[in-house]
Amino acid sequence: MRMHKKKNTDKRIQACMDYCYYFDGVKSDSPVFLEIGCGKGAFICENAQNFPDINFAAVEKISDVIVMAMEKAKSLNLQNVKFLTADAKNLGDFFAPGQISRIYLNFSDPWHKRYQYNKRLTAPFFLEIYKKILKPGANIILKTDNVGFFDFSVKNLSLNGFDVKNKTYDLYAGEFLDGNVQTEYEKNFVEQNMKICYLDAVLT
Ligand code: SAH
Repeated sequence: MRMHKKKNTDKRIQACMDYCYYFDGVKSDSPVFLEIGCGKGAFICENAQNFPDINFAAVEKISDVIVMAMEKAKSLNLQNVKFLTADAKNLGDFFAPGQISRIYLNFSDPWHKRYQYNKRLTAPFFLEIYKKILKPGANIILKTDNVGFFDFSVKNLSLNGFDVKNKTYDLYAGEFLDGNVQTEYEKNFVEQNMKICYLDAVLT
């Protein structure tokens, strides 16, 4: 997500301190669901509202973006979501082994060029990091508009210890749409009649 550098981001983040994962990690014993690259937070906040018994955590590397997600959570007075400004490559520094029950990857940067594939959030390097923090039997749910990135993800998940149990190239045409929560990007793509790919992969 590209943006102009915003003024006052640090101050705005300070005003949302209760929502900072650094200072106030996940408290209850409920399962923890983690979104990586949460953008402005529509998805994680709607899920937190829908499932008060789940602890949600969201990681985003751009502070000017995550601050909007934090402000959204604060305005909704959500009690079960925390935000972490970090790169996904450092997740192992913040979450304990086996702490996470589900990872959501929504419209991750597709990195079109072959020499950039190792930056994709489903490259083997990242899957190894996720495997450390995921519980056995936990799952990764992924949505994207990009078929190349989707096929790459299916292949790498299958080769790296995940069982891709559900997948579709057209989420809106089929059975997995029930209970779907739209992200900001998704809303935009759906309005343009673009197809959304979806998969659910279980750590075996
Ligand atoms: N999930 C949101 C935003 C999608 S854009 C939506 O669907 O609307 C992808 C987001 O992932 C961007 O905000 C980008 O900053 C973030 N991102 C990309 N690589 C990341 C990484 N390595 N670690 C954390 N966040 C990352």
